[in-house]
Amino acid sequence: MTQIAPSILAADFARLGEEIARVEAAGADLLHVDVMDGHFVPNLTIGPPVIKALDAVTRLPLDVHLMVQEPDALLPAFIDAGSDNLTVHVEACRHLHRTIQMIKDAGMHASVVLNPATPLHALEEILPELHMVLLMSVNPGFGGQRFIPSTLEKIRALKQQITARGLNVAIEVDGGVNASSARAICDAGAECPRCQTPAAIFGQPDYAAAIRALRG
Ligand code: ZN
Repeated sequence: MTQIAPSILAADFARLGEEIARVEAAGADLLHVDVMDGHFVPNLTIGPPVIKALDAVTRLPLDVHLMVQEPDALLPAFIDAGSDNLTVHVEACRHLHRTIQMIKDAGMHASVVLNPATPLHALEEILPELHMVLLMSVNPGFGGQRFIPSTLEKIRALKQQITARGLNVAIEVDGGVNASSARAICDAGAECPRCQTPAAIFGQPDYAAAIRALRG
């Protein structure tokens, strides 16, 4: 079953603790935290102090998506803040293998993310090292964009590669996920060992109903 990771981008930041407690009670599996640096993507969001504050008030694993150019220098701060998984962009890391090793050496899950235009073959060497591959189904930088349909074919192809190589790598799909795209994502990745998706649960009237709708 697809795990649902509410993206805090859509939360009311003035009442963040309350929002997290509500989504946890509503059955979320993990919390997706979008970090934007105003450089790799044209937007700014939050950093390690907010992640540390989230970690103090929730039992949900913190799934941190770093939309950050050359993140190595910032990794210790994100690790100390209590992130459970750190996902870095293939397009943003000059020495991707070293970056992944730094995260794993700290005892954390290490994952990579591909933008919509980045081909799967960019993963060929690094795939066995990963906890998860995140496929962007919108161009990163803003919430509220529409799901790019060709992502479904990319999910199928990635699932085939993971299965063929006998790996236990999860697939995560990020951007424009609603009840209908969630069903299609689930179908495309159904035989994958694990599949999860960030979604805009915050901002909806009933968080539990929104999570149920995404699970199909
Ligand atoms: Zn994200």
